Amino acid sequence: MTEHAGRYAPSPSGDLHFGNLRTGLIAWLFARQSGRKFLLRVEDVDTQRSTIDSAHRQIDDLLTLGLTFDGDILYQSERSHAYQRALDLLTSHGHVYECYCSRREIQEAPRAAHHVPGSYPGTCRELSDAERDERREALAREGRSPALRLRSEVDTFTIRDFYHGDYTTEIDDFVLRRGGQNTDWAYNLAVVVDDGFQHIDQVVRGDDLLPSTPRQAYLASLLGLSAPEYVHVPLVVNQAGQRLAKRDGAVTLREMLLHEPVHHIIEKLAASLGYPGVSTLKKLLEVFRPEDLPREPLVWR
Ligand code: GLU
Repeated sequence: MTEHAGRYAPSPSGDLHFGNLRTGLIAWLFARQSGRKFLLRVEDVDTQRSTIDSAHRQIDDLLTLGLTFDGDILYQSERSHAYQRALDLLTSHGHVYECYCSRREIQEAPRAAHHVPGSYPGTCRELSDAERDERREALAREGRSPALRLRSEVDTFTIRDFYHGDYTTEIDDFVLRRGGQNTDWAYNLAVVVDDGFQHIDQVVRGDDLLPSTPRQAYLASLLGLSAPEYVHVPLVVNQAGQRLAKRDGAVTLREMLLHEPVHHIIEKLAASLGYPGVSTLKKLLEVFRPEDLPREPLVWR
């Protein structure tokens, strides 16, 4: 039997705020309305920024709000073996190469005019074995390891998004495992492997991730995984139009709960989705209509 599941996948680098909760709530509404399971995944692949304490606080926050999850919580920090298997598979098909470039070298490399800013210009893609040995040794002397990049065989890739329709970006040779002193798995690899492993067929998340999505869908295709349905939703932003963050005032659930009960916060969330006066998740589940979701970023006041 095919499983159908959606998910919420926060990165545990701070308490959940109104914007995170709104996205999580929309993901929950999409999953529950379509009869999917709803899974929670802790995206702690970035070991420099994630803490287990933060993960536990976020889980408590979601439960406080009343969101319900199915199955076990998946922690990316426990999934290295799966990422390594995916990397081995890609390597066996010639899809992986080492990259010795520093961030600065990438920024300063000449590229054709149409390239997306920050995309990788392919500097290390065609090095000879001798050149690789030399550059690897030079890095090792500084105590650093090379990054691993995907040898992309396409120029662009197109995904379909519920709100954005067909969406195409350039596909560069993006990072699969970081280099330097801290060889963390790259988010783009982890998210694809885990969505496949968890049978996620609906990804609802903030639209700041839309630009990375064609890369992820391309990687999924190389790993023999089918791409999920994508639903990228507008973010909550501050007065300057930037993604809401802790510095924007009392924005976390815990801070808000110091001054108001949880049903007020649910009411605010529901109003932000276009349903003023709704103060329970049960009612919101009945009235929520995906096609009516406001398409503009929500400005926090
Ligand atoms: N971990 C990401 C975040 O917190 C979400 C990634 C995803 O939903 O694919 O922004």
